[in-house]
Amino acid sequence: MGLIPSPARKALKYDCDKCVAYCCSIYDRVQVTPRDIRRLAAHFGLLPEVASQRFTKLFGKERILRRKADRLFGQACMFLNQETRKCTIYNARPSVCREFPTTSRCAYYDLIEFEREQQDDPDVIPLVKITFRNGKEK
Ligand code: SF4
Ligand code: SF4
Repeated sequence: MGLIPSPARKALKYDCDKCVAYCCSIYDRVQVTPRDIRRLAAHFGLLPEVASQRFTKLFGKERILRRKADRLFGQACMFLNQETRKCTIYNARPSVCREFPTTSRCAYYDLIEFEREQQDDPDVIPLVKITFRNGKEK
């Protein structure tokens, strides 16, 4: 999801242009920092307080982006274009979006490629949901 210089892009083993934006859809929480809010505010020409109220909400003590209904995954980030599956605020997106994934592979891209080969259907979209639990919890 980041703006990647071409030499670095060659090393990446995923292609967001061929994906349906799992990262913008299946995570309930996309964390935003005060700096992210200032960037969003500048992008929309709003005061930071207004941008924070309009685009984010609190989840416990964490501030996260608001979500909206999504035709594929039920819900997705409010800034995802549902038709193109692209970010509508790419240059103003939060830092977690810029950093994801932190490795040269994206597990969701591997999944979509794997299933398209297994199902012998280049257009199939595996729908997944992710939740987290600490493995030490009983
Ligand atoms: S899930 Fe992975 S491949 Fe798909 S858009 Fe996000 S970062 Fe790109
Ligand atoms: S801000 Fe953009 S890149 Fe980040 S989750 Fe939302 S749609 Fe995806």
